[in-house]
Amino acid sequence: MKPFSKQHLIHDLKNAGILPGMLLHVKVSMRALGQAEGGAETLLEALLDVVGDQGTIVADAFIESYPIPLSKRNRNNLSTIHSPSYAGAFANAMIQHPQMHRSRHPIQRFVAIGARAKELMEAHTAQSDGYWVMEQLASLGAYNLNIGASVIGVGTTHVAIEKTGLKKKIVPRGVNYMNESGQTTIFKINWSGGCNKGFVKFVPLYQKEGLIITGKVGNAHTFLTKMADTLNLEMAVLKNNPSFFFCDDPTCKDCRLRWEHSTGSWLKVKFYSALAIMKRIYNK
Ligand SMILES: [Zn+2]
Repeated sequence: MKPFSKQHLIHDLKNAGILPGMLLHVKVSMRALGQAEGGAETLLEALLDVVGDQGTIVADAFIESYPIPLSKRNRNNLSTIHSPSYAGAFANAMIQHPQMHRSRHPIQRFVAIGARAKELMEAHTAQSDGYWVMEQLASLGAYNLNIGASVIGVGTTHVAIEKTGLKKKIVPRGVNYMNESGQTTIFKINWSGGCNKGFVKFVPLYQKEGLIITGKVGNAHTFLTKMADTLNLEMAVLKNNPSFFFCDDPTCKDCRLRWEHSTGSWLKVKFYSALAIMKRIYNK
């Protein structure tokens, strides 16, 4: 099959609901999209073309954190605005772009290009909440575009969890970075996060409320959601049922044990984990 051209991707993005001037948070699986001429860079160029001069593209481009105390090797892995992200080819194509702006936050280093990129990225610092950019995007009327069915979450669930005040025992991890006074300092993770396997439970609710615009870009199915709408829905759901985002995996330590409102028992998690290991060995 012929690789997708930039023109083809532009056409698909317009059909998927992307408009000029949009403030857009993007999550991409390049594998789902299929081969594009020039790869992730071409998709980025196509997106920038469609949103135009007044638009802005934002992506998660978070960086690795390490167990505390930092090992000798990890101590030297300094987080900077040019650090590569584990978030995949598209995020890294954005980081390589000459017009990119990057979060000042030492770990949750979002990347952005476009009209509002500078203001958003420079205001996100070590003193801000890890997911502050998402909350900001929701309040500014942004949309979230998922390219690929394997891409999980619509960008607002973490914000909803934090804003609902749900708390978790945080596993101590961090990274060294250079603070505003030019000193190398450790930054420790100070947000709860959550289990991605549970976030998919919200999808039928978004669908029921008509919040999803579906489309196709390349070979990938897409869905486009207004971030303020998904955030409102998630907040309302979590207010009534704070455990709604827990996954159903009986071996998931995160959901079963770590939250203040987790109701699992350590013994059960151990039991099901041993069972899962035995099943794997038996199936070999
Ligand atoms: Zn889980």
